Parts: sequence; C-alpha cells; structure tokens
Amino acid sequence: MHGPILILGACGQIGTELTLALRERFGNNRVIASDIREGSEPLMASGPFELLDATQYEAIEKMLVKYKIEEAYLMAAMLSAKAEKFPDRAWHLNINSLLNLLNLAKDKKVKKIFWPSSIAVFGPKTPKDRTPQTTIMDPTTVYGISKQTGERWCAYYFEKHGVDIRSLRYPGLISWRTPPGGGTTDYAIDIFHSALRHRKYTCFLKEDTKLPMMYMDDAIRATIGIMECEPRKIRERSSYNIAAMSFTPAELAQNIKGHIPDFKIKYKPDFRQAIADSWPNSIDDSRAREDWGWQYRYDLKKTTGEMLGNLRS
Ligand code: NAD
Repeated sequence: MHGPILILGACGQIGTELTLALRERFGNNRVIASDIREGSEPLMASGPFELLDATQYEAIEKMLVKYKIEEAYLMAAMLSAKAEKFPDRAWHLNINSLLNLLNLAKDKKVKKIFWPSSIAVFGPKTPKDRTPQTTIMDPTTVYGISKQTGERWCAYYFEKHGVDIRSLRYPGLISWRTPPGGGTTDYAIDIFHSALRHRKYTCFLKEDTKLPMMYMDDAIRATIGIMECEPRKIRERSSYNIAAMSFTPAELAQNIKGHIPDFKIKYKPDFRQAIADSWPNSIDDSRAREDWGWQYRYDLKKTTGEMLGNLRS
C-alpha cells in the first residue's frame, strides 16, 4: 500500500487536479490536501483537507507527523505575472516553502518530495528553439529567478544530503477544472472561456508569440510518472525539461475557429509580452524521455477539442 501523501497549495490550478488524480490512484484518505484557503467542491468533498501555510516550518512538520506522511508535493507558489507585482512576497513564498520541505526531508521527516520548476528559468540569452536541458539560464523575472534558485537548492540537497527530490520544468499548462493563478500563459485558458461565452477574445500577447504549452492531463501524468520512477533513473536532480506542444495565439485561435467559425481575436499586448518574449519557443525534452520514459499525448488539436468539450458540458 502507498504511504500517505501531502499536497501543499492543493487548491490551485495544478494542485486540484493532482490531488484528485492521486486520490483516485491511492485512495481518498491517503492523500491530504492543504492550502491557505479552501478549494473546489470536488476537492473538499473527496478527502482530508487541512489549512496549512507552506512558509511555516513547524506547521508543516506537525502535519507530516500527524498523518505519517511519506511523500509531499509542493504546489504553493506565486506565479510569473503576479510575482512581478509583489516581488518580495513572491520570493518569500517560492523560496522558503521549498527550503522548509528540503530541510524536513534532510531530517528524514518525509521520504520523497516533488517541486515544480518552470520554463521561466530560461531567459533572453537562452537558445529559443528546442531549448536544451542544460544551457544558458538568465531569467529576467522574479518568478524565474526564484525557480532557478530553487533548482540549485534541489540539486544541492540531493548531492549534500541525499534528499530524494524530483522536479519538472512545466511549460504553460492548459486546463478547465480550476482557474489559472496569474501566469503569462493564462491567455491559452482564458481564450476558451471567452470563445464559448462571447465568440471573441482580446489577447494580452502578440499574435506570433510562440510558447511551450501542455494539457493538464499530460502534466499530471508526468508528475506522477517521475515520482514513481526508480531513484537511480533520475539523473537530473535540479529539474527536467518536459514538452508537449508549442503554438502562437494566432494558431490557437485558428484551431478554435475550426469549432466556432465566427470566433474573433484581437491583440492588446500588456506587461506580460516582455515576460513571454524572454521565454523559449520550444523545449528539448529528450533527457526526460531517455531517463524515465516521458512522452506527451495531447497536441494542440486534441487539447482544443478537450477544452471546448469539457467547458461546454
Ligand atoms: P496556483 O496559483 O493556481 O495555485 C497555487 C496555490 O498555492 C493556491 O491555491 C494558493 O492558495 C496556494 N498558496 C499560496 N500561498 C500559500 C502558502 N503560503 N501556503 C500554502 N498554500 C499557498 O498555481 P499553479 O498553477 O497550480 O502552480 C503550482 C506550481 O506549478 C507552482 O510552483 C508554479 O510555479 C508551477 N508552475 C505552474 C505552471 C502553470 O502553467 N500553471 C507552469 C509552470 C510551473
């Protein structure tokens, strides 16, 4: 039987789906959701929930003891666009929550940790196409700097203290169950809601801004996949590149028009354009494929169909 699991930041865009997926796999009572706020009805109704601040070391420690937790997934963070508005709060949350868990794992209070990094670790001098696993990283956002620092801490705690930390550099994630939390790729979710409701959308990025993206089901499969992998296969203890599709707002709009022919898009770039311009167009994930068999399932066409179908119903 799988040991108890704790999710921190469980009520957000990814945490909600991850909690539901883990509960289905390992049993509702073995997956403890926690956050500083309550979550959606399916999340709250399906298993245990605790109010828990991921920046509070002792509170996390108590929770690990209370439920005899073996694995923890840290999903609490402030995302790219929001972090530019609140740099100090973003740094405090993103770094201290991670250091708390790394230190608890170092002291053997939890056996295995998952922490997500992001394509935001890359910057303007990074090669933009098929960005390699190991390359120049010069992030220009508070969020990107916090993720790059986090990656170095992960590698350090693995090397120095043998902490079993596993991490993925998520691209922009597209999902319908829970609203996104203030990232630069949020347009690729907003556009579906707006297309169904108003038949039009004003995009905050330019039409030719190509970014790496992934459908949530693939991201959850990757997350559970890397956590279930034998430790010796995980050769990257900073974070793995993972990829699925890359597209521009214009290409996404074209796909939506295939379902909603009178859909219209306008472009009104804001401060998020500069963030998007500093990120890669596409990602080389061959290392994740080689090491633990990663392979995406959802391309742009399939994602568009899933999003519209699920939001409609
Ligand atoms: P989100 O903003 O939707 O959810 C974050 C959750 O953390 C929220 O429910 C929030 O209430 C909670 N939280 C905030 N402060 C907290 C605290 N002090 N203690 C406990 N919980 C707290 O974010 P998300 O999209 O679900 O992202 C989860 C992780 O994945 C983050 O590390 C993020 O950087 C990373 N990521 C997300 C994407 C994406 O496209 N969504 C892409 C790359 C990386």
